[in-house]
Amino acid sequence: MKVFKFGGASLKDAASIKNVSTVLWHYQKQKLAIVVSAMGKTTNALENLCDAYYFQKGNANQILNEIKSFHFDIISQLFVDKQHPIYNEIINSFVELDWIIEETPIHSYDHDYDQIVSLGEIVSSKILSFYLDEVGVKNNWMDVRDVLQTDNTYREGKVDWKTTQENAVKKLLPVLIHENIIITQGFIGGTSENYTTTLGREGSDFTAAILAYCINAEEVIIWKDVPGVLNADPKWFNDTVLIPQLSYQDAIELAYYGATVIHPKTIKPLQNKNISLCVKSFVSPLENGTLINNEQTGLPTPCFIFKVNQVLISIAPKDFSFIAEESLSGIFGLLASLNVKINLMQQSAISFSVCIDYDEEKILRVIELLQKEFRVLYNKDVELATVRYYDKATIDRVSIKKEVLLEQRSRYTIQMVMRNKK
Ligand code: ASP
Ligand code: MG
Repeated sequence: MKVFKFGGASLKDAASIKNVSTVLWHYQKQKLAIVVSAMGKTTNALENLCDAYYFQKGNANQILNEIKSFHFDIISQLFVDKQHPIYNEIINSFVELDWIIEETPIHSYDHDYDQIVSLGEIVSSKILSFYLDEVGVKNNWMDVRDVLQTDNTYREGKVDWKTTQENAVKKLLPVLIHENIIITQGFIGGTSENYTTTLGREGSDFTAAILAYCINAEEVIIWKDVPGVLNADPKWFNDTVLIPQLSYQDAIELAYYGATVIHPKTIKPLQNKNISLCVKSFVSPLENGTLINNEQTGLPTPCFIFKVNQVLISIAPKDFSFIAEESLSGIFGLLASLNVKINLMQQSAISFSVCIDYDEEKILRVIELLQKEFRVLYNKDVELATVRYYDKATIDRVSIKKEVLLEQRSRYTIQMVMRNKK
């Protein structure tokens, strides 16, 4: 049994869906649970819809119409027969959104967000499932919300592992055993009261890992538009190299520091059951890609991870006293209460620095609150570079034409907060 995950980029238009079907054609004799994301940038569009509905930021009806036509345009290229049942199926799915946006909001934003945004995965999985039928790849569509149960932390549902495992054994395994291929949704889950939750943006990889864990799959394959895990994001570097094999530990570290290729929560459940994870290209499916398992083969390749659009905040006691435990606990408490994630921190005698993602509204609020008790200085437009398995040459390469404001080294990892030299 394997679990596959296809992300939005692999389902962004009719040609992509045909390509995914060709890939799956070769696997149709295997037992596969296939997890899909919303098509292309649909989740972003649904977020806009949600903002328009909830905060009157834009015209909800117009945004919804655009989302519908994006999907119906693709459907019309895949299913020439206009009487095909897929048309009604998708019209009916979208009716749920029509109903939601007709009413004035009564629930929390996060609750409504999940009910709205989850439609992307429902629709993409239906389209793929019907199309596979059309080209002769037998499959079963399954609503993952009947299996993957979370608590009601909307937008960041916490998985109820016990119930999910029981559901997977009861509902998913038998279908897999008798019918081979299941098509289901990533990113979304259900609560015990049958509301929809989501697992956090880019959470489909995590869904694949959760299902794999629950059914004891032998492998997960994440199909990407890159050849596998590269040692740097090709957005920032020209000469990237493919890492053929990685240990779970290294993969966790890379994802933690911001490598966007795999969602950080994906690895742990797989590591716990020793399920291997392969990251490979849906464009060249015969290539090996990257294998992640509990081995450590070959020499480690230096890996670069960049987080741009960061802000470095320095916090110092107003009375020029030292930074001590009480001040730190106050600072952490405040950051936690505003749900601010620290990407890097450093303490000196008289100040404490944190590097965090720049989100204007949030940062202004953080600074305002900190200023009540501390002297606060900050630098915008900085970037955080992390090099794992660094050496002198890689550090020089990363920091060329940069001024390093703060640096932290451990045995294998160096992190630098930098800005462009003036
Ligand atoms: N569609 C969701 C998102 O774009 C989940 C995912 O792609 O993994 O965040
Ligand atoms: Mg996506």
